[in-house]
Amino acid sequence: MQALAVVDGQLIFVPNHPEAEPGDGQVRVRPIQAGICETDLQLVQGYMGFSGVLGHEFVGIAESGSMAGERVVGEINCICEKCEFCARGLGNHCPNRTVIGILNHHGAFAESLIVPERNLHRVPDNVSNDMATLVEPVAAALQILEQVEVVPNPRVIVLGDGRLGNLCAQVLKAAGGDVRVVGKHRAKLARLAALGIPTELVENAPRTRTADVVVECTGSATGLETALSLVRPRGTVVMKTTVAGAHQLSLAPLVIDEITLVGSRCGPFAKAIAAISDGVFQLDDFVGGRFRLDQYQQAFEHARGPNALKVVFEIQPG
Ligand SMILES: [Zn+2]
Ligand SMILES: [Zn+2]
Repeated sequence: MQALAVVDGQLIFVPNHPEAEPGDGQVRVRPIQAGICETDLQLVQGYMGFSGVLGHEFVGIAESGSMAGERVVGEINCICEKCEFCARGLGNHCPNRTVIGILNHHGAFAESLIVPERNLHRVPDNVSNDMATLVEPVAAALQILEQVEVVPNPRVIVLGDGRLGNLCAQVLKAAGGDVRVVGKHRAKLARLAALGIPTELVENAPRTRTADVVVECTGSATGLETALSLVRPRGTVVMKTTVAGAHQLSLAPLVIDEITLVGSRCGPFAKAIAAISDGVFQLDDFVGGRFRLDQYQQAFEHARGPNALKVVFEIQPG
């Protein structure tokens, strides 16, 4: 099968990657399309020392099991079901887990991948392939609401106008937040403004420290520092993006201003699918580039560019 893999720290197109066989409780899924995520951009720069087939945001056709022949999306954490964390319902933190396209598990930038059947969710007919590709990042954005108790009409600043920043802003607005997005890219900010979400260029954002919640979605090592300059004392900073580099900042403000710092990762798929199917979020035109797997260089260049939201690989017909 065709696949895009990280080999010796290098992203390459493999025309004849071996296809794995599903084991017990596993299903082979044939991706229809898969999206490039900020995490993928980090992984090809050495984050987590990943090697193998990349890609974790996908919609595909299940080949076997109870959803055989149906359109599915898959949760990315593949858990052991035996450890203390799994027993406590904290499977996303299972120390024995593999993570599709991120940790010891081949991903979806390929003509097939293996997914535990328990991770799969059917895609409703009214959810397009483009929208289904966004289930994973929408779920990640919804995770904020699982972790942070949102006070009525909280003042929220989302830092970062990219794919995840846009989704987090939409999620928090839908939850009643008074949301502002602070970013660097005029075209991306204009898209948010068109959704009725006020925006600001980062250099113009007043450092007044009035936000109840700041969501850090920049994917840059300086994002946390900027977040701390915007959050009010006793406020909450939610960190949604990982960075390959190291943070270099003083953590004293966290203590002095009694800031709550919340790390936030994967979220509830079922809620994301239901919200997308109900039309809660504006996801039209979110996909801003379509490529074949062998066009990966252009695709990644496009995903890194200033204007693209979601870039997808079209892998096979659905
Ligand atoms: Zn992702
Ligand atoms: Zn476990």
